[in-house]
Amino acid sequence: METIVIDGSTGEGGGQILRTSLTLSCITGKNLHIENIRAARRNPGLAKQHLSCVQAACRICNGQSQGATKGSQVLDFQPGPVQSGDFHFDIGSAGSVSLVIQTLLPALFLADKPSAVTVTGGTHNPMAPPFDFLDETFLPAIANAGFDSSCKLIKYGFFPAGGGKITFNIKPWQKSTEKIIDLCRPNSKLQIQARIYTAKLPVRVVQRQRELLLRSGLKIRNVEHIEVEDSDGPGNCAIIRLIAGERTTVFTAFGMRGKPSEKVISEVVSLAENFLAPPAAVGRFLADQLLIYMALAKAGSFTTNELSSHLQTNMEVIKKFLPVAFNIEQLKQVYRISCQHL
Ligand code: AMP
Repeated sequence: METIVIDGSTGEGGGQILRTSLTLSCITGKNLHIENIRAARRNPGLAKQHLSCVQAACRICNGQSQGATKGSQVLDFQPGPVQSGDFHFDIGSAGSVSLVIQTLLPALFLADKPSAVTVTGGTHNPMAPPFDFLDETFLPAIANAGFDSSCKLIKYGFFPAGGGKITFNIKPWQKSTEKIIDLCRPNSKLQIQARIYTAKLPVRVVQRQRELLLRSGLKIRNVEHIEVEDSDGPGNCAIIRLIAGERTTVFTAFGMRGKPSEKVISEVVSLAENFLAPPAAVGRFLADQLLIYMALAKAGSFTTNELSSHLQTNMEVIKKFLPVAFNIEQLKQVYRISCQHL
């Protein structure tokens, strides 16, 4: 069986290179050898969260791995055939449940029967898709191409305490030439809403953040506050939701000890403003996450405001496994990304 060799230090040099490689190894049945894992990160090699991704990938396809230890920068993975099923994974830290589920999803969509997956860990972590993004932005976007799944939050888990839980129900992919990712039209008739989560924090945090959101130049219609009562530890995140008909784009910023609310709100407001300035349909985070689904469908296109290094690196990794080409076309203020079969 062919082995695909991946250098984890290229481009973005982070965990996504590992996760995309694991996913596509499961799907194609090709063995994986990956070196220099997360070489561009401050703490290179496999962290607990990445080990959970490796273990979860092994579980769904009865695969084998060598080198799956904390801090390891080299991993070999031999996948078996992907099986649908009822799976439970516990990351055992505040590692992101979204990143574990995103490693498995494409492979489980290709199984012949539905699957249910429960993951315990962090549901709202910096540098990863928070639950709200998965639910409101990511899953509806891939549903356009017949990838039908739903998720439910059972318990919130904020970084660093974790202890959250989400469940996923995944249906086999309904492949059809009519259903593709076609997210090129800019969002119109936009409504802007915000949401603030707090857990175990003084009420002045939410008061201040609400005031800052309403004073931003974004014309936010309303600010919802969710006080999480049963959180394992403190937590705060501010979310801006850009709603255009069926399409919702979620941006998030996280509060943490010593980080002023001004910084939290200015981060989330800048993400939304950068996205809204040019007429793009897809934000920078969704952009890199859509690529695998376009590659499986061997079709699809979207416009985005930014060519992030996650986006460009993910294209290179996908092309190592699947016979597809990605085109990047610079229009006036936006980039149009499309995918074709080679
Ligand atoms: P890596 O840094 O290589 O582990 O990859 C992180 C992944 O998380 C990428 O797919 C990012 O698009 C995604 N991500 C990071 N921050 C956010 C966010 N605030 N909202 C949605 N997705 C995110």
